[in-house]
Amino acid sequence: MALEPEGNALRLQDVLSRPGNQTCADCGNPEPDWASLTLGVFVCQACSLLHRSIPHISRVKSVQDTWETSEVELMAAVGNNAAKAKYEQKVPAFYYRPTHSDCKLLREQWIRAKYERNEFEFTEKQEPYSAGYLLSFLHPLCVPFPLQSGYREGFLWKRGRDNGQFLSRKFVLTEREGALKYFNKQDARDPKAVIKIETLNATFQPAKIGNPCGLQITYLKDNSTRNIFVYHSDAKEMVDWFNSIRAARFHYLQVAYPGASDEELVPKLTRNFMKEGFMEKTGPKHTEGFKKRWFTMDDRRLMYFKDPLDAYARGEVFIGSKENSYTVLAGLPPSTQGYHWNHGITIVTPDRKFLFACETEAEQRDWIAAFQRVINRPMRPQEYAVEAHFKHKP
Ligand SMILES: [Zn+2]
Repeated sequence: MALEPEGNALRLQDVLSRPGNQTCADCGNPEPDWASLTLGVFVCQACSLLHRSIPHISRVKSVQDTWETSEVELMAAVGNNAAKAKYEQKVPAFYYRPTHSDCKLLREQWIRAKYERNEFEFTEKQEPYSAGYLLSFLHPLCVPFPLQSGYREGFLWKRGRDNGQFLSRKFVLTEREGALKYFNKQDARDPKAVIKIETLNATFQPAKIGNPCGLQITYLKDNSTRNIFVYHSDAKEMVDWFNSIRAARFHYLQVAYPGASDEELVPKLTRNFMKEGFMEKTGPKHTEGFKKRWFTMDDRRLMYFKDPLDAYARGEVFIGSKENSYTVLAGLPPSTQGYHWNHGITIVTPDRKFLFACETEAEQRDWIAAFQRVINRPMRPQEYAVEAHFKHKP
């Protein structure tokens, strides 16, 4: 009997090495070291903390702990692959599956959607084509995929462009019109802005916006980037808005690229920025001194703002590929003057050199790595058109 715990530890290691159990069931991080004894899944430590917020659904235990034989047997009987088949049975293709580096809001709502709200399961009463399932389409409270309805309307707190105050605004997302609209007055007939789904991106920015549900929406107007910042006080509602935007983008791309597979379209629905932060920059003549600006690297678009929450970019730089004479170098040309931060970066483009200065060596390294990633990637045909737009800007 004394050997039993040790035997269980070995058996648990064996269960952990089985297919599916080597990555977190919820965020895909390698080597999960926690388990949910009620759900039968292995998760990483960060996800185990989120499981603790639904104690009526999930009871977690460290794999380092002492395990009972019955507990090991349960984990052996379920495991990540079997749980995925049950809890992720009908996740729509457009639905965002968070990774380890995503914000807590996205990860927590994914876990709640799967295990607490059972959003992606065919329950016994809702087998496909059963009476219960068909009825669920008729009853507005239990429509299976409300995100896919092609229309969403509701109120979000939107940051005012001039005073920075968040005000309640009505938003309407319509797939038919291919647009997200918002209204300054509840009874206004004309929207304050009509944002085309075509160029719209949404990315959660809790730290920058200062709200756990803060979402940054970017879009192009006259080929320049515009930002709006919104949040909803209810976490589920905010993540539903995000996935509704993804559903509308998915629909738009399916029409724009007929015959493209889901695997090709899903990565195009929304994107996180490659890097953001402050750097100093100088103008085209390199003589007017360096100014501190907030930079956002969005794929090949390097934008800079006076304030991280500005509605408009002060300027945008296209970062092409090395085949097209774009290079990034550590340091500044020897004669450069007027910078306060000591860690320089020079970006060489076919037109001119851009000079930046970072506050720390780590920031310099991270920025160079971000630039290198896009410069090393050959340009796609559509990107040549984008580059041409930048060149013709006044
Ligand atoms: Zn995880």
